[in-house]
This record gives sequence, structure tokens and C-alpha cells, in this order.
Amino acid sequence: MAKRSISDLDVAGKTVLVRVDFNVPLDGDRITDDRRIRMALPTIQTILAGGGRAILMSHLGRPTGEPSDSQFSLAPVAKRLAELLGQDVSFATDVVGEDARSKVAALRGGEGGVLLLENLRFHPGEKKGDSEFAHALAGMADAYCNDAFGTSHRTDASMFAVPQAMDNRPKVVGLLVAKEIQYLSDVLQNPARPFVAIVGGKKVSDKILVIKNLLTICDSVLIGGAMAYTFSLAKGEKVGKSFVEPDRVDLAKELLAVGGDKLVLPVDTHCGDDFSSDCNKQVVAAGEVPDEMEGLDIGPETATQYADLVRNAKTVVWNGPMGVFELPPFDAGTRAVAEAIAESDAVSIIGGGDSAAAIEQLGFADRVTHVSTGGGASLAMLEGKRFEAVDVLDDA
Ligand code: AMP
Repeated sequence: MAKRSISDLDVAGKTVLVRVDFNVPLDGDRITDDRRIRMALPTIQTILAGGGRAILMSHLGRPTGEPSDSQFSLAPVAKRLAELLGQDVSFATDVVGEDARSKVAALRGGEGGVLLLENLRFHPGEKKGDSEFAHALAGMADAYCNDAFGTSHRTDASMFAVPQAMDNRPKVVGLLVAKEIQYLSDVLQNPARPFVAIVGGKKVSDKILVIKNLLTICDSVLIGGAMAYTFSLAKGEKVGKSFVEPDRVDLAKELLAVGGDKLVLPVDTHCGDDFSSDCNKQVVAAGEVPDEMEGLDIGPETATQYADLVRNAKTVVWNGPMGVFELPPFDAGTRAVAEAIAESDAVSIIGGGDSAAAIEQLGFADRVTHVSTGGGASLAMLEGKRFEAVDVLDDA
């Protein structure tokens, strides 16, 4: 799926329309976590260093009702971006209106080279994938760049109709998306073996397609988290008060049949009589959770077994915690797996969402090969799905 990248493009004197993901958490107009802005810097800086100009566009939150609801304005992002870049960032108070048009016309190279458009979702055309809206955006630039991995599994106008509307003009991936594709798609297509996947989290229903796909490409798929108890239930075992999805038991049976020896389930469980740190705790064999208890983490024997399998692997993919990692001591299983991944020489890929948060929280993020920035998008890629928003871009 290798795609032409922004670094392969001669941007001198050109205007590049860049879809970024500036969907940052806000408290009033204060940005509480600017990570997504910082992650977009390399692509923006590549364009500026190459003598180009950048028009940035993003969604923010889910504005409903009044389109210009200031609660969802990207104005604070423009301010923070200017601080991070150390140069002025011009801000358009609309998306394809008069202000955007005049600010696009005023764009200059270097210092005057960055413009951020107002929240794409203030325009109804964004969610509808509207062609007229897409042509208005595409008309602003000489090239298009997708650096918004977190929304790349979607086909909103800015992700799909805009690159389509660029016709013969270049359509490339930004540095962030290039890296995500490299690890979540290219590496998985040709992995060094043994290739071990660890899938955890609460609901098996969220990850059925991920497990199915990983079973076809991995040597082992290790299951943890609450989803293990739905598998237990499918085997007719005792799950006590553990979180289970009884309506997914047939599906769990199907995965057990398809997976065979490749699908590895916990051998023991750390349970508690309450969903709290100070509950009464007990380690029991998997499938023997007492009636008044619930499984809250994989047990120590499972943690050792999973860590050993990880240590022997050459490629590791991890998505979803092994237990209620927010509630010590039920973080032990997740911690053991994270530690083994951090210590291993394998190519290690952490799917977004909770496992990315866990690896950050435990301080191991810089000891893994790739931590994905997208929750839903990284799951979709692990499901082996094709992304129309990426397919539409130029091949490398
Ligand atoms: P997910 O969003 O599916 O990756 O699930 C992550 C959530 O699953 C975390 O908030 C964990 O606390 C929760 N979780 C993991 N294991 C268990 C468990 N055994 N019982 C209840 N919740 C769990």
C-alpha cells in the first residue's frame, strides 16, 4: 500500500492543502493536550522548508445546531500552532467562504506560509461528502496531503471527495500517515516470525474482525481482558460475575473453532469480589471464577506465559489491556505484557486507544517500534480493511 509521501514532492512555490487531525481536547479555549498539534509539525515543517505554503484543515468535536458554535472553533489551535512553529499562523473564520478565500490569496512563502481553516464540520458538506464543497476546497491548492490518520477510515469530504476533486494534481500522504501505514499495513503483510498478537479489552464484539484477521496472519493470538470470559462462557466454564457478552457466545465458539491452537486463552485469572482496588482478591484457574467474584485481570501464570511468547517473537502487535489496568493491582497483567514488549527486540506495534494509553502511562512508549495514534483507524487497519481515503492517493 506504499503511497507517495510529502517528502517526495517538490513543493517550492506550491500551496498544499493538508488534512490534519487537530481534534484536540479543550477546556473552554484552553487546549488540555496539544499532542495532535505537535504530531502534525513534521509535515508542516517539511512543506515550509521546501519553500511551499500550507493550508491546514481539520474537524474539531461534533458541532450540532448553530454551525459557528464557538465552543468548537479551531481558533485556539491556530494560536497554539503558531507558538509551536515559532511563526505566524493565519486563521480563516470560515471554511470555503469569503474569509478563507481572501486569506488563501494572501498566503506567502516562509513566514506568511501557514493558514488554518475553521472547523470543517461547521460546513454541512463535510459529513455529506459533498462534491461542490470538495471542489471549493480542492480549488485552493496545487497539491493535497492526508496527515490525519485518526480519520483515515472515514470518507468525509476532506478525506475522500477533496483528493478525488484534485484530478491530476498530486495527492500524497503526510509523514504521520506514512508511518502508520508502514507499520499497521506493510509490516503486517510481510512480518518477521514468530508473529504474536495480543488482543485484550472489554468487549469481544468490538474486536471480532481484528481477531479473525490476526488469526490468518499471526502465529499466535493471545487473548486477555474481559473478552476472555466470553470465550470461557463459550467453553461452558464458570465465569462468576465477570463481564461477559452472552449474545456473543456463538461467535466466540466460531473463533475458537477457526483459531485452534493459534488462539491462546488465559490459564488463570485474578479476580475480586468488587470492582475496586481494595476488594477481596483471589487467583483462580481460568474457567473457575467463584460465583461471587469477577475476573479483573489475567493471573500471574498467564502473565508469565504471555511475556515468554512475546520475548520469543520477532513481530508483536498489541491492542487492548489485559485487565482493569486503571485499578491496581489489576494492572499487573497489562504491565507484564508491556514490559515484555519494551524489553524485546521484536518489531512492536501498539494499536491506538487504551493500549497506547497504557504503554504511555507505564513509561514504555519510547521502547516500542510504533505506537499508533488512531483508535478506530488502527483497529480498522488491524481488521485488514482497505481505506478509500488512502487508496485515492498517489502510489509511491
Ligand atoms: P477496550 O476499550 O475494549 O480496549 O477496553 C478497555 C477497557 O476494558 C479498560 O477500561 C479496562 O478497564 C476494561 N477491562 C479490561 N479487562 C477487564 C475486566 N476483566 N473486567 C472489566 N473491564 C475490563
